[in-house]
Amino acid sequence: MKYQNDLAFARQLDEQDPLRDFRNRFLLPQHNGEDAVYLCGNSLGLQPASAQQYLADQLANWKNLAVEGWFQGNDPWLNYHKSLTGSIARIVGAQENEVAVMNSLTVNLHLLMVSFYKPDNKRFKIIMEGGAFPSDQYAMESQVRFHGYDPKDAIIEIFPREGELTLSTEDILNVIDQNKNELALVLFGGINYYTGQFFDLKAITDAAHEAGAYAGFDLAHAAGNVSVQLHDWGVDFACWCSYKYMNSGPGGISGIFVHEKHFTDKELNRFAGWWGYRRDKQFLMAPGFDPEVGAAGWQVSTAPILLLALFKASMAIFDDAGGLDVLRKKSLRLTAYLEFLIHEINKQQEEEVYSIITPADPAARGCQLSVVCKRNARVIFNYLSQNGVIGDWREPDVIRLSPVPLYNTFEDVYKAARLMADALKAI
Ligand SMILES: *Cc1c(COP(=O)(O)O)cnc(C)c1O
Repeated sequence: MKYQNDLAFARQLDEQDPLRDFRNRFLLPQHNGEDAVYLCGNSLGLQPASAQQYLADQLANWKNLAVEGWFQGNDPWLNYHKSLTGSIARIVGAQENEVAVMNSLTVNLHLLMVSFYKPDNKRFKIIMEGGAFPSDQYAMESQVRFHGYDPKDAIIEIFPREGELTLSTEDILNVIDQNKNELALVLFGGINYYTGQFFDLKAITDAAHEAGAYAGFDLAHAAGNVSVQLHDWGVDFACWCSYKYMNSGPGGISGIFVHEKHFTDKELNRFAGWWGYRRDKQFLMAPGFDPEVGAAGWQVSTAPILLLALFKASMAIFDDAGGLDVLRKKSLRLTAYLEFLIHEINKQQEEEVYSIITPADPAARGCQLSVVCKRNARVIFNYLSQNGVIGDWREPDVIRLSPVPLYNTFEDVYKAARLMADALKAI
């Protein structure tokens, strides 16, 4: 599509957008009495307008039914978590029994590593992307130490080639192959939080399996953003948070994927708790852990109903929107429009002031563009904030901007770019 750098054009794209009404289902933060230009869904998705009601319903159940709320009411708490697995399974390309909604992300990463990182003297290495989100680095280092290994020996990070900003799939596959005799696990982000690079999860999974290792992914920045097919790609396990692209609120509930091929594997360790016990016998309170078959068997603690209620408000919107493919179609255009407008700004300057480090290939990115500001980066970011554009800042000079198809408009993108151009004149 040929884009134009003017407001009327942006508004025309909005009029043609089949998802345009979904913006009304979210509460937008205000700036000087108007909707802010919110491009920070990669960090915290917006509040669904229905969230309060979902929460109020469960508070009312608690008030009116008290403990009976586990078994009574129109959505008894005992099975409340199960009412979410269909929606999230569709989002991550899984069978319903391969997903469970539970805990928070880093906790789930640890629980899954308990099962899928079982180093021995021959196979003890983990391959991950260099510059992964710190929590993932800390989790992996501490897991490695827990098993008695030194992270320096056991963790291999892959960095971009000299002069490049993102990873080449070829390099990833080569490093996997080179370490095949000692490799226990390949654990990658789905989308790198800093660069916005969307990795080739299928190719990485195939290479890990070829090397005799497991393949797992942290989909914090991928789930609800790009289409993934965890089941069909044969991914062993994955986890994600739901407060970024899935709008479940700060610290919202996380989720896991475990491929069905592992359901009957008795060799896998797991840290058990009663909520993962087989459902038909859970309340017999018998000694000896007998897990529920499926990802549900990885649950540990009583489901946090209030967090689940918030997540449910959001999943209803995803379901109504018609699935990730519909969202992705708009997302590709929104992000391409932002990219086009940034290139237009650069053309007016002597040098490329705004350098996009996210891959130019749409298949290798999601909503997010990470923009390096070559001069006055922090001042530019402050200028945007003061004028109602909410993006996010990463040291030393990166602004991440993520137009989200459920609630952002082409006009939002136009306004943000307009202010990025104005900022250069104003400072
Ligand atoms: C956001 C994010 C986290 C945060 O983990 P929490 O346990 O939810 O605090 C971890 N890893 C990645 C890759 C992230 O993007």
